[in-house]
Parts: sequence; structure tokens; C-alpha cells
Amino acid sequence: MLFQPEKIHRVMLKISGEILAGPQGYGFDDEVIDRLTDEIIKVRQKGYSIAIVLGGGNIFRGGTWKNQNLDRVVLDHIGMLATIQNSLYLAEILNLKNCPARAFSCLIMDNITELYTPSKASEALETGQICFIGGGTGNPFFTTDTAAILRAIELQSDLVLKGTKVDGLYTSDPKLDSNAQFISSASFSQCLEQKLGVMDMTAFSLARENQIPLKIFNLTRAGGIEMALTQPDFGTYIYA
Ligand code: UDP
Repeated sequence: MLFQPEKIHRVMLKISGEILAGPQGYGFDDEVIDRLTDEIIKVRQKGYSIAIVLGGGNIFRGGTWKNQNLDRVVLDHIGMLATIQNSLYLAEILNLKNCPARAFSCLIMDNITELYTPSKASEALETGQICFIGGGTGNPFFTTDTAAILRAIELQSDLVLKGTKVDGLYTSDPKLDSNAQFISSASFSQCLEQKLGVMDMTAFSLARENQIPLKIFNLTRAGGIEMALTQPDFGTYIYA
């Protein structure tokens, strides 16, 4: 199936914590976040409905935490809390820029932010608000890539945009192989056959089973979000 930009209205944007951290690798890079939020606003102004799942790796990653003698469940809870911190922070910056945004959490955080339900988030999206959905899937041992696919399915999104530091998928690692070729689109089955590492297997299977198309694109490129939505050759399109 060809990439059809005219059919895309509701999108799920996944941004890893690593991108929010910028070159320092930890916390928030003000310049990066300023640029990203400007780009999100621009895309919103074009009429797209935008839900966002943020990673937490700029603050805490349970699965790769240095001390794995600690209980993984607790480590993952800390990681999930990091995604809520990121959601609150970016939503606040968007609001400060006069762009209505709301941070939901799938974990109960009564005093801090409202509990996510698909219907509440859908309603908010319909009124034009940008919705952050924090807390990952709400369960340990999962990733925010899986959360992004899950929420995209719940919210009946037309496309999942996975912003990364690379342009998309290649036939082999371009850093190691000068013959590596860029892949502008591939079906889920081709990804499996060619062992293309799109996202972790749980996230990939969920997307494949529910036939939700994805685009992997370079979010560090200026205007990346808009280009990923409008240009078939910008990023790699994965389809059912
Ligand atoms: N996490 C989790 N369950 C989820 C999503 C995330 O336990 O459904 C935890 C896990 O510890 C993970 C951390 O939150 O390491 C941050 O998420 P992720 O690693 O996906 O963030 P990213 O790499 O995208 O910044």
C-alpha cells in the first residue's frame, strides 16, 4: 500500500527520551524542546490531530539501569514515572506557547494529572488539544514504543510517527556498510523476512496484528514532523 498523505488526519507521535535530552544525553535540551514544540504547533495548525507518547530514557530506563540487582518491577515503575514527567513538561511548554495541550497519565496521579481513558483523550483530540499520554502501557517489562502503538490503536490513529535520530530503515547498517540502501517503504512481512529492526518485537507484533501503519523518520531534521506527514520519501513507511 502506497503512502497516502491525504488520508492522514489523526496521528500518534512517538518521541524517545534520548531526543529530548539532546547531545548531553540526560534531562532536557532547551533548544531541542523549543524547536520540537514549535514544529508540533505548526503541524497542529495545518489541521492534524496529534497524540504524543514520550519515552523516558532521558531520565530513567528500567531495563538497562546500572544496578540490575534491584527489582525490575520497581525500576520500570521509575521509568514510567519519567515518561509522565516528560509529558507534563512538554504539555506545559506548549500551553505557554498558547497551544492547548493536555497531559494524561495511565497511572492514577490524582493530584498531578488526569487519568487517561481512550474516550477522554479522543474528546480532547476532537477539540484540537494536543494529548500527551504518559505512563507507558502502565505495566513493567514493556516499552513506550509498545505504548505508542497501543494508544494509537485505541485512539484510532491513521499513522504512528516514530521520530528517531536516523533517516529510517536501511538494508544494512550504513555506518558499517557503504552499500547499505535506504528503504522508503516495506510491508510488515518484508520487515520480518529481511529482519529489519523497526521497533521491539512486542510493539511490532501489536502494530502488525492491528494493521496500523508506521513511519520511522529523522526527528532531528528541521521540519521533520511535517515532512514525514506529507512526503512519501521522507522516512520509511511500514504498512500491512
Ligand atoms: N516502561 C515500562 N513500561 C512501559 C513503558 C516504559 O516499564 O509500558 C519503563 C521502562 O523502565 C523503560 C522506561 O519506562 O525503560 C522508559 O521507557 P522507554 O525505554 O521506552 O523510553 P525511550 O527509550 O523511548 O526514551
